[in-house]
Amino acid sequence: MAKTPRLRCLPSRLKPAPTRLKPASAARPTSTTTGAWLYGRQWRKAREVYLSEHPLCVACEREGRVTAATDVDHVIPHRGDERRFWDQNNWQALCKSHHSRKTAAEDGGFANPMRE
Ligand SMILES: [Zn+2]
Repeated sequence: MAKTPRLRCLPSRLKPAPTRLKPASAARPTSTTTGAWLYGRQWRKAREVYLSEHPLCVACEREGRVTAATDVDHVIPHRGDERRFWDQNNWQALCKSHHSRKTAAEDGGFANPMRE
């Protein structure tokens, strides 16, 4: 006779990824390596969440158009200032075209040949 198969409860090893958003005021450098935090995983995640909450390009909206935002832009360039970088009041959702235009204008007005 066939043995009764034993049903095993597999321990759930997959924990749900933490999705909580840090309040900007509580944002603190978690890494002491200067520059490592910039555009890292944390930013990609935060950006993703922000874009899901602000799916439209605000610049296009101002012009009366509806365009999907693809980038999160810093209204005031953060220039490596971590507090400004993570301050969502300083963020705006932009489409690719508006973002690159703005970035180009900022880089052009700010002589820095070392920019990537
Ligand atoms: Zn736009």
